[in-house]
Amino acid sequence: MLFCEKCNLLSEKKKCENCGNENLREVNDNDFCYFGLFCRGDLFILKSNLQDKNIDVAVVPFGGFDIILPDRTSAYFKVYIKYKDFSQANEIKDILFGK
Ligand SMILES: [Zn+2]
Repeated sequence: MLFCEKCNLLSEKKKCENCGNENLREVNDNDFCYFGLFCRGDLFILKSNLQDKNIDVAVVPFGGFDIILPDRTSAYFKVYIKYKDFSQANEIKDILFGK
């Protein structure tokens, strides 16, 4: 599996489908890979379930001011998971939210 360092995206092709980067490298176990976009409620559930399995979760607030809630926190979050945990995290996500 290849990895785009710009987007933190996994790619099966030699070119990143998001940014067009053609200098993809082999992914390492500890690379944080883009996992998905979650609203705050889903993130809370996902994060606690992943942390129960000792899976590291990196979270970055997403979006412009239009989706910032009145309490000044973001409504949506980009979630990144290490490659070594990625498939297990996907299984947990499917159990929690369905496919
Ligand atoms: Zn990219």
